[in-house]
Amino acid sequence: MKLARYNNGRIGVVTESGLVDVTEAAGVDPAQWPPVGPTQLIADFDRLRPAIEAALASGTPIPLSEVRLKTPVPWPNKVIAFPVNYQAHGVEMGAGYRANNQGFFLKPSSSLSGESEPVVLPDLPGREVHHESELAVVIGKTARNVAPEDWKDVVFGYACLLDMVVRGREERVARKAYDTFCPVGPWITTADEVKNPDQLQMRLWVDDELRQDANTRDLVLDLPGMIAMASAVMTLYPGDIIATGTPEGVGPVVAGNKIRIEIDDLGEMVVDVVQGEGGQASMFDEPYQLVKQS
Ligand code: MN
Repeated sequence: MKLARYNNGRIGVVTESGLVDVTEAAGVDPAQWPPVGPTQLIADFDRLRPAIEAALASGTPIPLSEVRLKTPVPWPNKVIAFPVNYQAHGVEMGAGYRANNQGFFLKPSSSLSGESEPVVLPDLPGREVHHESELAVVIGKTARNVAPEDWKDVVFGYACLLDMVVRGREERVARKAYDTFCPVGPWITTADEVKNPDQLQMRLWVDDELRQDANTRDLVLDLPGMIAMASAVMTLYPGDIIATGTPEGVGPVVAGNKIRIEIDDLGEMVVDVVQGEGGQASMFDEPYQLVKQS
């Protein structure tokens, strides 16, 4: 099932003929704040699924061109992200570590956005904002100390994710925390529709230029390893998102660009880039430009 969040926070199931609204069957109140309805939907999905499927069978599809897709889980407990998790990206960054021995960091939930919401560039002269194409894993169960062989038990689904970043040497979390720096979508594809998550081809274009083209089989720390490591430290909750790391080919985006990410089985998400005002902070006073290694 492809579960989308759209317009003012309604829930839809995406089919080949369009999106069918299932907000009521999913038990989600679009007006609720904080917007934890989708988190609760994931926690209760096994119980709610029959009602959602009934609503899907009797509903009228809306063309996708007529809806504004939002980020599917706007208020997760956390977004976990693994840095330098493909060898060739480690080489281009000149990084002396990999995710298996470095661990993970967190991105704030406030950085989440969806396909209909552009990436807003902060006004930082002398700095580049880069795209990182990543597979997102959405957690479905409350879990701690998950053994690698049990990893699939706690996965709800998958999505495309852009881990946007201001390049530099400052604190990584701060450089990756701007609002709109974590587009996720275009929807969540439930795990039963993704037969081989460890063999997904992932591509990213900026306008018509193919920048990133890699396969999840080349992850340094694989999906079982990431879930085992994160859950060794923290309780995982339904709706938690894991950004699994980016392959080689990261690069700058500027206002007017369109970023397109496509992953096997999950679909494609196209996000506009616009220039914002503000966002200056003293940590970015010094210019920086990444010189990629090869
Ligand atoms: Mn990343």
